Amino acid sequence: MIDTQDPQVVIRRLAIVGSGLAGLTAARKLVAAGVEVTLFEKSRGPGGRMASKRLSEPADGSADIGAQYFTVRNPAFREFLTEHASTECWGLWDGRFRYQGADNGWQKMRPAERYVGIPRMSAITRSLSEGLDVRAGVRIASLGRRDDKTWCLTDTDGQVHESFDAVLLTPPPAQTVDLLKDSGLAVLADDFNIEISRMQACWTVMVHFPEGAGVDFEALMPNSRLLNWAANNSSKPGREDQGEWWVLHGDPDWSDANTEEDPDQVAEQLLNEFLQYGEVRANPGTVKVHRWLYARPKARTGPGHLWFPEERIAIAGDWLDGGRVEGAFNSADGLVSRLACLGVLPG
Ligand SMILES: Cc1cc2nc3c(=O)[nH]c(=O)nc-3n(C[C@H](O)[C@H](O)[C@H](O)COP(=O)(O)OP(=O)(O)OC[C@H]3O[C@@H](n4cnc5c(N)ncnc54)[C@H](O)[C@@H]3O)c2cc1C
Repeated sequence: MIDTQDPQVVIRRLAIVGSGLAGLTAARKLVAAGVEVTLFEKSRGPGGRMASKRLSEPADGSADIGAQYFTVRNPAFREFLTEHASTECWGLWDGRFRYQGADNGWQKMRPAERYVGIPRMSAITRSLSEGLDVRAGVRIASLGRRDDKTWCLTDTDGQVHESFDAVLLTPPPAQTVDLLKDSGLAVLADDFNIEISRMQACWTVMVHFPEGAGVDFEALMPNSRLLNWAANNSSKPGREDQGEWWVLHGDPDWSDANTEEDPDQVAEQLLNEFLQYGEVRANPGTVKVHRWLYARPKARTGPGHLWFPEERIAIAGDWLDGGRVEGAFNSADGLVSRLACLGVLPG
C-alpha cells in the first residue's frame, strides 16, 4: 500500500509544460485533487493548437487557424467543459458541410454535433486557464533533478523554476523528445513508437471576402491533392465579421512535402484550389498564411498517456490518444485518473 503521507511519494507541486487543452485539463483536475500546479507556456497565451488569429484588417475579427471544431462524445468531456469552462464560450456550429466522394460527386457530411469556441476557438482555453498559474512566454529548455528528487525547469532565458515533485510534458512529440534529450532523459523517449510520434504539417490560409464568397455551403472537403478543408469561419456562432473570413487547410501529405515553400505561393495555390472546387465567383480580399509544422498525428491510436514512476515524469497530449481536441482531453483525463488510482495525489 502506498503511504500518501510520504513526501517522496505524494505529488504536492507539479509543473506542466504546455497549456493546450491537455495541459489545462490536467491542471484543473490536479488542482481539484489538491496539487499546486504551475503551467509554463512558450506562446503569448494558453490554447496551443486550439488557436485563433486576430485579424485587424479590413475590420477587427479573428479566425480559427488550428482546430476547426470538436466532438464531445465522451460524457466526461461534456461534464468537464460544463463545470470548468463558462457556458457562453462554447456551442454548436451548424452548417452545410460537404465532401467529394470517390466519384467526385458532392455529398453531405454525416450529421454530427460539431462544437466550437465562441466568439473564437481560443475562448475555451482562455476560460479554462482562469485562476490557474500560467507562466506565458516561457519556453522550457530542460529539466534537472536535485538530490532531494525534486525537479527544476530551466527556460530559454536561463531562468530556473524550482521545485516540483513531478513534471507533466504536453508539447507535440518532436518537442517533447527534444526536451527529454536536452534533459539527459532520452531513454524515456524509447517508449514512443515511430507511428505515434509522427505529426504532419498543415499550411493554413485565411482569406477575406468583403462581399461574402457567395456559396451555398459552410465547409467543404474536396478531392484535391493540395486542399484538404475550407470553412466559412464567419458562419460559426458569435462571429461578427464584416464580409466573410474563410480558413483553408492544406492536405497533410502535400503540406509535409512543401513545408519550406514560399508562403505567398502556398496562399495562391490553396486559394486557387478553393475558388475552383468551391466554384467561387466572388473576389477575395486580404489573405494571410500560417504554417503548422506539427498539426495532427498520422496515427489514430496510442497508449493514452505515459507515466514514468521512477522519474515522476508524465506525458500527455492528443498524439497519445488518437489526435483531435477530444483526444487531448482523454489523454490528460486518463493520466490524472491513473495518478489518483496509484494514490500519489494528496486529495
Ligand atoms: C490545422 C489544424 C487543424 C485541426 N483541426 C482539428 C479539428 O477540426 N478537430 C479536432 O478535434 N482537432 C483538430 N486539430 C487538433 C487539435 O487542435 C489538437 O488535437 C489539440 O488542440 C491538441 O491539444 P494538446 O494540448 O494535446 O496540444 P497543444 O495544443 O499543441 O498544446 C501544447 C502546448 O505546449 C506548448 N509548448 C511546446 N513546447 C513548449 C516548451 N518547450 N515550453 C513551454 N511550452 C511549450 C505549445 O506552445 C502548446 O501551447 C487541428 C489541429 C491543427 C493544427
